[in-house]
Amino acid sequence: MRAFPGAVDVAIVGSGPCGAAYARILSETRPDLRLATFETGPMLADPPGVHVKNIADPVARERAQRRSEGPGGAPRGRPGTFLLGGNALPAAAMSSNVGGMGAHWTAACPRPGESERIGFLPDLDDLLGEAERLLGVSAHAFDDAPFAAEVRKRLSAEFDPGRDEDRRVRPMPLAVRCEPDGSLVWSGADVVYGEATRRNERHTLFPEALVTRVLVEDGRAAGVLVRDLRDGGEHEVRAARVVVAADALRTPQLLWASAVRPPALGRYLNDQPQVVFAVRLRDVGAADTDPRGRSRIVRQSGVSWVPFTDAEPFHGQVMQLDASPVPLAPDDVPAPGSIVGLGWFCAKDVRAEDRIVFDDAARDGYGMPAMRIEYGLTPRDEAALDAARAAVRRAASALGEPLDDEPITLAAGASLHYQGTVRMGLVDDGTSVCDQDSRVWGVEGLHVAGNGVIPTATACNPTLTSVALAVAGARRIAEEI
Ligand code: FAD
Repeated sequence: MRAFPGAVDVAIVGSGPCGAAYARILSETRPDLRLATFETGPMLADPPGVHVKNIADPVARERAQRRSEGPGGAPRGRPGTFLLGGNALPAAAMSSNVGGMGAHWTAACPRPGESERIGFLPDLDDLLGEAERLLGVSAHAFDDAPFAAEVRKRLSAEFDPGRDEDRRVRPMPLAVRCEPDGSLVWSGADVVYGEATRRNERHTLFPEALVTRVLVEDGRAAGVLVRDLRDGGEHEVRAARVVVAADALRTPQLLWASAVRPPALGRYLNDQPQVVFAVRLRDVGAADTDPRGRSRIVRQSGVSWVPFTDAEPFHGQVMQLDASPVPLAPDDVPAPGSIVGLGWFCAKDVRAEDRIVFDDAARDGYGMPAMRIEYGLTPRDEAALDAARAAVRRAASALGEPLDDEPITLAAGASLHYQGTVRMGLVDDGTSVCDQDSRVWGVEGLHVAGNGVIPTATACNPTLTSVALAVAGARRIAEEI
């Protein structure tokens, strides 16, 4: 039987990038504290939280993806994810493994802009900078991609006029490191943990350990109840602070299971409606040499970013596809890197009625309260999607020849960017779950983390922002304890 600690200073639920950010900041600033992280899913590889793309052996990589796909019987989503299934957000997905979705992500880390930003956080830029440090973000990983400059030149001519400098077309900041031999290393939670956490003997990570309840006594978080999934044993771990970083669906689920049920819990759910298109770049020759010949990932055209603005409220990312998504004629062999995918994400019209409904009578595959989603697109959302389809067509015409007649609108939930379900606010007025340091209203010592904390309607990839919010929460704990 595994030994679990009887008491720690801080118990962290979930080992994705946001849970890891709490462990890292606390390891750096308060090495005197005892920390424990509990993670439902298995450890995939060493170091803990590593991105599966960094696993060289394809058989081992596929096995790691399959092991992340939740309890037996859960429907499969994209590799490394499983679907909630049967709900109004049909593509809603989760990952259960050390590193969470951060072991499978694309690692795009744009900063939010204009109305995407959380206006009541005066130190947001400082926090985003710290999140970039933790995630190892760089805008230069694909600097030598042969078609990248040309892709950006064409997109800039189409989209830049009238935009502020920081909202013009640019390389996508990515949580990726380029090694001296040209190979790429993708950041997962392992990079967020960093050596500071790995060397911290007072931090322990428990994989295959499901937190079934946050203990609340006299209005204070007092610890967690953990089920060891290896042998079914139940353990009570007392803690002065509890951080729930269990993704935007399962963080509110665990609060619900713990009878912490503020009115906004699970509400204001927003996913980013998404349209995709593919295009063959016009007038580019084949790249003679692949500058990343030894890399497992080849991206001749790099990853480019068309930032969100209030006037054009979508976030565009343009990247080389590994293969054409549209069947080409058998004798049509595209130049390597000349087919690029365009993904446009929209900001959702945020409403309280878009929500997760928890069922005390029914259970999910882990035995937690079953979740059902109520969700719909408003006329404003439909108009935003129409405008995104028009923008993606403009981008495609600027770049070359589209491979299909119409952009494809993906199923709701496909963005994998679920936000709002434990959103932060300035005051406890029933429209938020936590304060600006992610402390849950009305329960002392309880923090929430992850994309669910983001209160604004964003279209950009949210992880950088949610890691930034985790930094603020962790600093708060470091000061308070
Ligand atoms: P997660 O990474 O989801 O981790 C939460 C963890 O909590 C999970 O491991 C889960 O098993 C665990 N957990 C849940 N409940 C419990 C419980 N009761 N007890 C114990 N543990 C529990 N985002 C971007 O910003 N940019 C991108 O380019 C991008 N691309 C993506 C591509 C793919 C294919 C995928 C799958 C995701 C992508 N994302 C992207 C989303 C990104 O991965 C998430 O935003 C990020 O991982 C969220 O971090 P988190 O720590 O909040 O949650």
